[in-house]
Amino acid sequence: VITLSKVSTSFGEHVVHSGIDLEVRRGEIFALIGGSGSGKSTLLREMILLHRPDAGSIRVLGVDLQALGDGDADRDTLALRQRWGVMFQHGGLFGSLTVQENVGLPLREHTGLDDALIDEIAAWKLAMTGLEPQVGAQYPSELSGGMMKRASLARALALDPELLFLDEPTAGLDPESAGEVDQLVRKLRDLFGLTIVMITHDLDLLWQLADRVAVLADGKVQGIGSMSELAQVQVDNPAIRKFFDGPR
Ligand code: ATP
Ligand code: MG
Repeated sequence: VITLSKVSTSFGEHVVHSGIDLEVRRGEIFALIGGSGSGKSTLLREMILLHRPDAGSIRVLGVDLQALGDGDADRDTLALRQRWGVMFQHGGLFGSLTVQENVGLPLREHTGLDDALIDEIAAWKLAMTGLEPQVGAQYPSELSGGMMKRASLARALALDPELLFLDEPTAGLDPESAGEVDQLVRKLRDLFGLTIVMITHDLDLLWQLADRVAVLADGKVQGIGSMSELAQVQVDNPAIRKFFDGPR
């Protein structure tokens, strides 16, 4: 569902990606890992049209991103944006809106549904992520970290996406809440066949959830495979080995 070919990106003199090739398959949980500054977030931003690489091509859900017109108002761009959901690292919820209004926002922007129906769908998405109905009336500042992650996941699911992008879904959570998010992500894949691309440093999440993992370092993909496959090649590649040191 996603194909990157020879993607290169620089910020001024600083080369972030030099020829990235990778493929995300339908229905899999695909993880991007790499040290701080290795270009994970930039690569994710490139997959969701928030940044354009300097060279190379990116296809998402059969659409060549380079071929899309500039600007958010472009029809094809709008149509494509509705087919994925994104959960940003810090939630990205609007503080001035209630949780339920936040979840309903994509529906308000992209569909012509009336308010009552939007509220009903938003409430259903909140329930799907395990939040109590009364949480919908609360404001983001009133939520715990784990509830915030659930609420932003509910918003990412508002338009029934085919593809879900998660930036650090368990970062900053206590182990119990992290475990709950982990279960939730697994359910989304198993029940709805969602394809999921996630960035994470969470080894538990990687071992338990990721079908395949790509290791990013020095502008390149150093290796791609399941965690156990990567564990076997790590002895030969210090860039991969880094992720297997430390507690597991
Ligand atoms: P982290 O694990 O810390 O989140 P990352 O792998 O997500 O790191 P990126 O955020 O993709 O890394 O950044 C990769 C490099 O590109 C960094 O050196 C960063 O400073 C640089 N960079 C990212 N965005 C920009 C930008 N808009 N302008 C200039 N430099 C940028
Ligand atoms: Mg990042």
